Amino acid sequence: MTYQQWLKQAVTRLRGSESPRRDAEILLGHITGRTRTFILAFDETVLTQDELAPLDGLLARRERGEPVAHLVGMREFWSLPLAVSPVTLIPRPDTECLVEQALGRLPEQPCDILDLGTGTGAIALAIASERPDCRVTAVDFIADAVALAQQNAQTLGISNVNILQSNWFSALAGLQFAMIVSNPPYIDGQDPHLHQGDVRFEPKSALVADDGGLADLAHIIHEGRNALLPNGLMLLEHGWTQGEAVRRLFTDAGYLQAQTCKDYGNNDRLTLA
Ligand code: GLN
Repeated sequence: MTYQQWLKQAVTRLRGSESPRRDAEILLGHITGRTRTFILAFDETVLTQDELAPLDGLLARRERGEPVAHLVGMREFWSLPLAVSPVTLIPRPDTECLVEQALGRLPEQPCDILDLGTGTGAIALAIASERPDCRVTAVDFIADAVALAQQNAQTLGISNVNILQSNWFSALAGLQFAMIVSNPPYIDGQDPHLHQGDVRFEPKSALVADDGGLADLAHIIHEGRNALLPNGLMLLEHGWTQGEAVRRLFTDAGYLQAQTCKDYGNNDRLTLA
């Protein structure tokens, strides 16, 4: 069977996915070790038996809905190849908006930045890689996530990030930062979105929060007042219907200039204050 023939039948089998062709190409590239360019240019290449068996195994798992990122163990974020695992959220392109806003608003001089609930380390590593003069502290509640983020920092050779285990601010007493960023859990536990696509295979602890999804956002906003330097900035990702509620949480907690920004799909996605 050639690359082209395998892709054709894989696309048919993956028609339940939002992106059958892209999924199939990624799985093929993962098993053959070939780039997408090679696969498309040399699509008459014949697959060996050693490639076909694991490829069909991955295809069957993808057919059952497992995220492509879990099947290949990596996902690119801000052009950084990150190891991913089922212990954390899979980094999303929407979260790159948060990185973009954070980078655009950091002071020019070196400063300290905090990323809460870092997961794979995506946000922290993206910021640290762009601002080697700054020091990024990244925390996660889950020990396996801390290990994964540390592994990513090491693989990428990013050394200006310090990753530690902490339940939000619990291990950070007395520390203050020029900027605090977070993509916390913000989905309501009843949201039907939780029964569709990749989220079914991601940890609820990274997705779901009490109070209609606002509990962790509220906690971070309240506790964060003591962890921000004067004129410090907090940037939080949230759901596209939560902009007004998050702005109110910020202003009720005494923050100034709460402002919501949209993501690449033109939906409210993050609020900064
Ligand atoms: N944006 C993600 C989703 O809707 C959720 C991310 C989060 O809860 N922090 O799938």
